[in-house]
Amino acid sequence: MEKPHIAVVPSAGFTHLVPILEFSKRLLSLHPRFQVTCLIPSVGSSLSTSSQSYLQTLPPTIHPILLPPVSKEHVQAEQSLAVQIELSVTHSLPHIKQELSSLCSRARVVALVVDVFAHDALQFATEFNLLSYIYLPQAALILSWYLYSQELDEILFSENRDPEESIEIPGFVPMHSRDLPFQSRSSPGYRKFLERAEKFHLPDGVFVNSFHEMEASTINALRDEIRQKKRKTVVYPVGPITQSGFNGRENGSECLNWLDEQEPESVLYVSFGSGGTLSQDQLNELAFGLEQSGKKFLWVLRPPNNIASASYLGGEADDPMRFLPRGFLERTSKKQGLVVPLWAPQVQILGHSSTGGFVCHCGWNSVLESVTNGVPVIAWPLFAEQSMNAVILSDALKVAVRPKANDSRLVEREEIARVARELMDGKEGIEIRKRMKSLSIAAENAIKEDGPSTKTLAEVVATWK
Ligand code: UDP
Repeated sequence: MEKPHIAVVPSAGFTHLVPILEFSKRLLSLHPRFQVTCLIPSVGSSLSTSSQSYLQTLPPTIHPILLPPVSKEHVQAEQSLAVQIELSVTHSLPHIKQELSSLCSRARVVALVVDVFAHDALQFATEFNLLSYIYLPQAALILSWYLYSQELDEILFSENRDPEESIEIPGFVPMHSRDLPFQSRSSPGYRKFLERAEKFHLPDGVFVNSFHEMEASTINALRDEIRQKKRKTVVYPVGPITQSGFNGRENGSECLNWLDEQEPESVLYVSFGSGGTLSQDQLNELAFGLEQSGKKFLWVLRPPNNIASASYLGGEADDPMRFLPRGFLERTSKKQGLVVPLWAPQVQILGHSSTGGFVCHCGWNSVLESVTNGVPVIAWPLFAEQSMNAVILSDALKVAVRPKANDSRLVEREEIARVARELMDGKEGIEIRKRMKSLSIAAENAIKEDGPSTKTLAEVVATWK
C-alpha cells in the first residue's frame, strides 16, 4: 500500500527551499512510514543553480514538483525582500491548489507544512481537510517577535519613546530597537509583516528550527504567552536541522585542499550567505581589515551592491574578483588567504578542523551550521532579521563578537582587524570559543534519538493518523 503523503510548500529562494526540505528529510528518516510531495514556487525563468543541484540530491521518498515560475515583474515592484518572497507563493496559489487537488485525489495526504512566507497556502488545509503547520526556518525569537508584534508596535512607535531605550521581547535579553528590521511604521514591508503575524494563529502548529538549550527562556516565554492568551498556536522546536552539505557548485575541492594545509582552528571563514552583498566601500574595508589582521582567511566574494539583499533572488553574473582593491590578491593569495568567487561548500568548511572563526551575516542557517560545528562567530548582520540573530549570538549566548560600524554605517578596517584578532587569539575569544563548543554539544544532544527535538517531532507525528 502506498505510504501517506505530507504536502510541503516552500517559498522562493535557496534558503526557503532547502530548510523545509531538510526538515522533510529528517521527518522521513525518523518516520519512514510517510512520503513527501513538495510543491516548489520560483521567480524568474528557472530555479537558481544551487537550488537545482540541491534538488538532485533528494531521496526518492521526496517528490519535488516545480510550479510554473512567477515572472520577475510580478514581484520586483516590492521594496521588501520578504514581501517579494511571499508574492512568489501568492502568484502560485492556483497551481498549488491544482497540484494539491490532484495529489489528494490519488493519495492519502495527512498534513500540509508550509514555509513561513508560504502562509497563503494554509487556506487549502480546510478545503482538503488536512492538518496544517508553518515551518519557521528561523529562531524561536522570531516567532516571539511575530506573536508580540502588536504590543511592540505600540511601544516602539509611541510619541514619547526615547529611541535609546531598549526593548524587551518576552524571555529575551534587552535589545536596542535598531536591531529590529523595521524602524518606522512606513518601513517597506512593515504592514505585510503585521498581517503575516496574524497568520500564525491559523495552523495546528509551528515548527521552529531551534532547540531548547539555545533559546530556553524565549521558548518558555512563548509557551506561557500562548497559554495565557489562550491562543491556538503550538510551538514545536525541532532543530537544529542543518543541511548535511552537498556539492552546490565549483570551488569545493580548492577550498578544502587549501584548508587541509592550514593549522588547526587558524582560518577565519568569511561569507554573507546565499545572496548577501556589501557596498564597494565596505568590501574595500573588509579586504584591508582581513589583511591587517594577519589572520588566515577564506572569503567567499560576491560583486558589490549598495542593496545588501540584491542578489538574494538571483543575479550574480559579474566576476567578483575585479572589485577587490588593487594588489590585494597578489599580497595575500594562498599565503594568508584564499578568495573564492560566489559560492563555497560552507558546511564542509565549517566542519573542517582548520576553520577557527566565521565572519557571518547571521542568516539563521549559517548560525546553526556554525553552532553545530562549534565555530565562534564575528556577527555581521546585513538585512531582514539577521540583526536579531546577531543579538542572540553576541548578547544572549555570548558566542560571538560584533564589530562596531561608524556613523556612516561602515565597519572600518581597523575594527575588522581588531575583532578578527580578538576572536582568533584574544582572551575574550578563548571564552567565546569554549561557550560555542559547549553549545555545539547541546545541539548534538537535541537531535539524538532521545533528544528533546527528536521527541517533540515524534509527538506531532503521532497525531498524524
Ligand atoms: N551557502 C553555501 N555556500 C555559500 C553561501 C551559502 O553553502 O557560499 C549556504 C549555507 O551553508 C547556508 C545557506 O547557504 O545553508 C545560507 O543560509 P542563511 O540562512 O545563512 O542565509 P541567507 O542565504 O538566507 O541570507
